Amino acid sequence: QNFEQFGLAPNLLSAIKRMGYTKPTAIQCKAIPVVLQGRDVMGAAQTGTGKTASFGLPVLQKLLPLANTSTSPARHPVRVLILSPTRELADQTAEALSNYAADTPIRIGVVYGGVDIKPQAEALRKGVEILIATPGRLLDHLEQRNTNLNQSGIVILDEADRMLDMGFLPDISRILNALPKKRQNLMFSATFSPEIKKLAGNFLTDPVVIEV
Ligand code: AMP
Repeated sequence: QNFEQFGLAPNLLSAIKRMGYTKPTAIQCKAIPVVLQGRDVMGAAQTGTGKTASFGLPVLQKLLPLANTSTSPARHPVRVLILSPTRELADQTAEALSNYAADTPIRIGVVYGGVDIKPQAEALRKGVEILIATPGRLLDHLEQRNTNLNQSGIVILDEADRMLDMGFLPDISRILNALPKKRQNLMFSATFSPEIKKLAGNFLTDPVVIEV
């Protein structure tokens, strides 16, 4: 298996090469084609499996036709929302996606609690196509109208089991209500508790289940 077979754009393949990735991992082989097709996904995968690129690369590929170098914030709506349980995972995901997107004009933003909200608000007001966020701080930004999710046609719940353990379900429900009804939903979880299955049942439409 190799990355070329997925039909990824040259400006993504160049970044993959620079990262030193020679072969896609098991979850990347399974998830990349399915995400490109537009299907919902339930992925059973832990950190360390190459999970971030398994959703990051196809999502970037899907955004490329919409990407532009305009400086107008209106031309950079949030098109992909990634919810993370912790600032550490949010930062790590943002760094990986910034590396994958380095040869594209796609802008990546990250927001989480416990730090000054103002610089985050400024970055959001300039516009980002991909937003990685912890749920509580994202709600603060939505209330302050620093951003909106009207055009977020793809949403990813990362480490969904940890978000449930941390009590984020009410926040997640409020956030999902701010998104367009017609959208692609991806969910990743290391475990499959009854609560996770219930969330998947409510949140995903005819998902492809991927286990590695
Ligand atoms: P993740 O599970 O997304 O946190 O990725 C775990 C680590 O594997 C990160 O350091 C990635 O940069 C790295 N990685 C992801 N995909 C590949 C790949 N196809 N080949 C080599 N390393 C990879």
